[in-house]
Amino acid sequence: MEREIYDEDHEAFRKVVKEFLKRYATEAKRTQWDADGEIDRETMLAAGAQGLIGLSVPEEFGGAGMLQDYRFRAVVNEEIVGAGLGSLAGAFGIQDDLAVPYIVHMGTQEQKQKWLPGMATGEILGALAMTEPGAGSDLRGIRTTAKKADGGYIVNGAKTFISSGKTADIVVTFVKTGEGNRPDAFSLLILEDGMAGFDHGKKLQKMGFHGWDTAELSFVDVFVPDENLIGGKEGLGFIQLMMNLPLERLSIGVAAAAAGEAAFVWSRDYTLSREAFGQRVADFQNTRFRLADMATTVDVLWTYIDRAMMLYKDKKLTAEEAAKVKFWATDREAELLDIGVQLHGGYGYITEYPIARAYLDARVHRIYGGTNEIMRDIVSRQIVGKR
Ligand SMILES: Cc1cc2nc3c(=O)[nH]c(=O)nc-3n(C[C@H](O)[C@H](O)[C@H](O)COP(=O)(O)OP(=O)(O)OC[C@H]3O[C@@H](n4cnc5c(N)ncnc54)[C@H](O)[C@@H]3O)c2cc1C
Repeated sequence: MEREIYDEDHEAFRKVVKEFLKRYATEAKRTQWDADGEIDRETMLAAGAQGLIGLSVPEEFGGAGMLQDYRFRAVVNEEIVGAGLGSLAGAFGIQDDLAVPYIVHMGTQEQKQKWLPGMATGEILGALAMTEPGAGSDLRGIRTTAKKADGGYIVNGAKTFISSGKTADIVVTFVKTGEGNRPDAFSLLILEDGMAGFDHGKKLQKMGFHGWDTAELSFVDVFVPDENLIGGKEGLGFIQLMMNLPLERLSIGVAAAAAGEAAFVWSRDYTLSREAFGQRVADFQNTRFRLADMATTVDVLWTYIDRAMMLYKDKKLTAEEAAKVKFWATDREAELLDIGVQLHGGYGYITEYPIARAYLDARVHRIYGGTNEIMRDIVSRQIVGKR
């Protein structure tokens, strides 16, 4: 089914992304990222120079100024995921969907001036640290504290599972600045690489996304100046997180649809070229029916996601709608990739093949950004209320 949300500007941008991939994301590079467990800085700088990151950074700070229009980000995602480079797509996503928005939408003028130009070029890479060893879904259960001191805060605690946490220069960190767990007891502070007592910890070994770092962070008496309090006002952290979560969940939905479509394309091409019992694997009725199921699911997925992207553009994507998108899209992604692996036979299990890597990468889509159970909880509360 033809999609209708893109115009010639998006298609022209798609060509830029394809060109970038040809030049900077070769198979040798992908293998290097997987071996190193991170995307190298040179690639991130090249992405900045070509305008592939920093899309929502206002033009006055060197970005593309796409504040609410997610379509260009979707083009980046589709092309990179479609090329079998999930880790690269993930690293770009953290920069553009999880780190940059807090400064663009909620930062003070000084914070924008200090960090946004470097974030658009790739010289400054960001991460978002909410989850802790003892608290993930239940974010109000975090224990990292930021106690007021002269001119700033003293931060103590730990975060875990932080995407791009090892490579990040700045980390938007969710901390407790008040007592109890009322929403106004939390704030967001920017911790900078090199601050005394801030340790990026070790890279965690993951099931998938091997070329994209995930780290444990620890903070021991880290002094963070007042200027690094996002928005310049204490007690807004929880609300600020809630404000960006729809975008984070939309972005996972887009990544899931892109991987689902890639699963279909890879499976179609593979079964057309593979022979068994004297015919193409694509000619078995089972394969044809599975491909028909996949193609239809991909059409429905994009129709839904495209609608969500347009709602986001008009500032109408609610937390509940974004939660639906996140759990529904990632559940469909899992089904599509599972069928795809099966249609590839043994090769579907070999990580040299993109379908195998995408299958492993996709598993976390149902866990991070809020688990799919939490997403269903958000949606169901709207339906039946909560006692
Ligand atoms: C690879 C990776 C990258 C990540 N990147 C980041 C990042 O960049 N920044 C960041 O802050 N975090 C990140 N996370 C953390 C991620 O968001 C959390 O793992 C996730 O929110 C779940 O939290 P948890 O692991 O503490 O699980 P728990 O909250 O302990 O949940 C365990 C199980 O209980 C279920 N559960 C919990 N509460 C309920 C409920 N109310 N109703 C029904 N079921 C429930 C969950 O759905 C899950 O199945 C990442 C995680 C991974 C694995």
